[in-house]
Amino acid sequence: METLELFIDGKFVPAKSGDEREIEYPANGQIHIRAAEAGKEDAKAAIASARKEFDTGNWTKTTYAQRGEILRKVANRLIAERDEIGRMESMDTGKTYAEGKADVDDVASVFNYYADMAYADGGRVVEPSMDGISSKIVHEPVGVCALIMPWNYPLLQASWKVAPALLAGNTIIMKPSELTPSTTHYLTKILIEEGVEPGAVQLLLGSGAEVGPVLTESPDVDMVSFTGGLVTGRSIMASAAGTVKRVALELGGKNPNVIFADADMEAAIDNALTGIFLDSGQVCSAGSRLIVEESIKDEVVNELVKRAANIKMGASFDEGVETGPLISKEHREKVMAYVDRAIEQGAKVLVGGEIPEGELAEGYFYPPTILGECTRDMDCVHDESFGPVLTVETFSGDTDEEKEANALEIANDTYYGLAGAVWTSNAGRAERMARAMRHGTIWINDYHPYVAPAEWGGMKQSGNGRELGPTGLAEYQEIKHIWHNTKPAPAGWFKN
Ligand code: NAD
Repeated sequence: METLELFIDGKFVPAKSGDEREIEYPANGQIHIRAAEAGKEDAKAAIASARKEFDTGNWTKTTYAQRGEILRKVANRLIAERDEIGRMESMDTGKTYAEGKADVDDVASVFNYYADMAYADGGRVVEPSMDGISSKIVHEPVGVCALIMPWNYPLLQASWKVAPALLAGNTIIMKPSELTPSTTHYLTKILIEEGVEPGAVQLLLGSGAEVGPVLTESPDVDMVSFTGGLVTGRSIMASAAGTVKRVALELGGKNPNVIFADADMEAAIDNALTGIFLDSGQVCSAGSRLIVEESIKDEVVNELVKRAANIKMGASFDEGVETGPLISKEHREKVMAYVDRAIEQGAKVLVGGEIPEGELAEGYFYPPTILGECTRDMDCVHDESFGPVLTVETFSGDTDEEKEANALEIANDTYYGLAGAVWTSNAGRAERMARAMRHGTIWINDYHPYVAPAEWGGMKQSGNGRELGPTGLAEYQEIKHIWHNTKPAPAGWFKN
């Protein structure tokens, strides 16, 4: 069985300790590949190499245009090898093969977008209105960037960081989730083959708890960009404080999906289903908190329950499968504990909630689950389950203003602020709600789409960074002011 190696100082290498980790296919729990398990010494070697390349290597001497061309070639490779890369993604995550391949298309679009940005992103000239002075703002790379990724969209989350970080001229140390190393490992090969300086890319595989602190505490790492859970994000922010490095955090969400009675009901219900159950709810922006107008609650919830019960779970490559398993046994236990607690606190399981038996029993499957009778004091409406679990709350009011105010209060009653949606046929209400909801992305009459030119990121404890769009590039740039006096003269302040 193949072992994926680390990429350090221009070479694929085993871990110094020789340790390896077995990677499971979550649909049946079988080991399908092995990966080197990096330790602290590997992390230090990766930092030293990335530092050396940044300080004295060739990568920072390349131009934006040259780096953009490399990103374009990477995008073309991804498109050409989409089926195989999609297969790797499905094997590591258990997601359906259709989703695995669709992810690769999205990844390619991110590389293409930042390839285009090579020509769009200039500095700016400042007009100081002083004779002989030229003043300009230039964009420079931040330095050595540690990029730490989660397991739900391994290559996609990597691309949101890797493409802008490389375009800006940084050197990078990638650390995918220990559960899903394959596609980031393959991307490393593609990056090098398509022209990225070998020292500009380092790859660490394995436990974040082991190598993470080495990266986040090192004075030789200038920035950490992290996508993952809130608890890990907090600890990364704290450990990065000692060196005041730049920290960009993309964390979890408990995302409200608000449906008013005047919405297009067919579209709202269908998208509510996709919003929460796509990829078995393991999506940071999953519409996990349904907030529905009281008068249509029964209609909406009955239909959702009926359709949720019919979602076809199964292995990635099986015909007709609509969603896969959860990532691991441990993660399924967490989701089950979340549902148990919800029941203890008074929620009622309307559908799902039981681990499937029969042919799915070997994998880490958990069925689409809907919790009714949820109230705002329950943990389930505030905490992220990161599984296929939908909570239902209602709002009402005697007037339109009251209804909106009530819906809004519930939608904003969360310590997260990643994403949300509002469903209504009233354009004014849609705009008012979208502006007042404190979440980084708001969909009006839709759920889940995103595009590479539009920023993505969270408010409140969903994080402090923005990925994609021009801001996603700015995350990886230092802004420098250069003041040039072409007519130097004594300042004349001190007279003696
Ligand atoms: P996680 O926090 O457990 O792990 C994320 C990464 O951090 C992994 O690579 C892990 O190895 C590493 N890590 C763990 N401990 C570390 C430490 N002490 N220092 C440095 N790195 C460490 O998260 P996960 O379970 O992989 O991902 C699920 C979470 O990610 C969910 O909360 C989800 O909402 C969030 N997420 C957010 C976004 C977004 O765009 N905001 C996107 C995808 C996922």
